[in-house]
Amino acid sequence: MSGIASLQMVDGALRSVDKVQSYITIGMEDIIEVSLDLAEMATEGDDTEGQLLDLKEMMQDYAMMEHDLQQYVKTVKQVKGQVQKLSIDEQMDIEVPDLIEKALNEAQGSSDKAVSHTKIDELKEKLWQYKNAGETMVRSANEVTEDEDVVMTQCEVSTKCPITKCEMVDPVTNKHCQHTYEKTAIMQMLRNRKNALCPVSGCGNKTPLDKTDLVDNRQLKRLINQRNK
Ligand SMILES: [Zn+2]
Repeated sequence: MSGIASLQMVDGALRSVDKVQSYITIGMEDIIEVSLDLAEMATEGDDTEGQLLDLKEMMQDYAMMEHDLQQYVKTVKQVKGQVQKLSIDEQMDIEVPDLIEKALNEAQGSSDKAVSHTKIDELKEKLWQYKNAGETMVRSANEVTEDEDVVMTQCEVSTKCPITKCEMVDPVTNKHCQHTYEKTAIMQMLRNRKNALCPVSGCGNKTPLDKTDLVDNRQLKRLINQRNK
């Protein structure tokens, strides 16, 4: 195959790499979700710790895959750049796949295999927060800020529904104002009143309530479950 045809193949390969990358990201996010679910369902004497370790290893594998993938993309792009600088005649004579393989071997030899990844840090942090549920957890549910006064108010985030004044079971958060209510209570409100606004007094959100603006607040739900244990 001529160098030019190989270059076209290379472009195709780079495009499918994007797809693989997105699978890796989704896989990593799934592991974080599953890990937190496991931690939530943990009971005395089961092997949650062992399962969590397995999941952490899978996370490492994903990170490694991503690392290799990025290395591959980097190498392929370098080779492509080198080949494009050649004249058409010279391009005819070279084998792009061979060049890529050679460059990859060189790159792999020099890279060390310890891989860090922001998603691994995220998993560790979320599990830690879960185990130390309380202030840190609630704080991270909101934006962490250096401002002490704001942090104080965030620590007081209530697990009580502003409508029922009872402890929530299924908290949902309004996308527009970040206020949280018990799901059944806010749903009933939606059914009873057309164009109802956020029921929290003093809330500046003037967007009428809509089912699609309410998202399950899983983090708060975990905190509530943890507290009720
Ligand atoms: Zn509100």
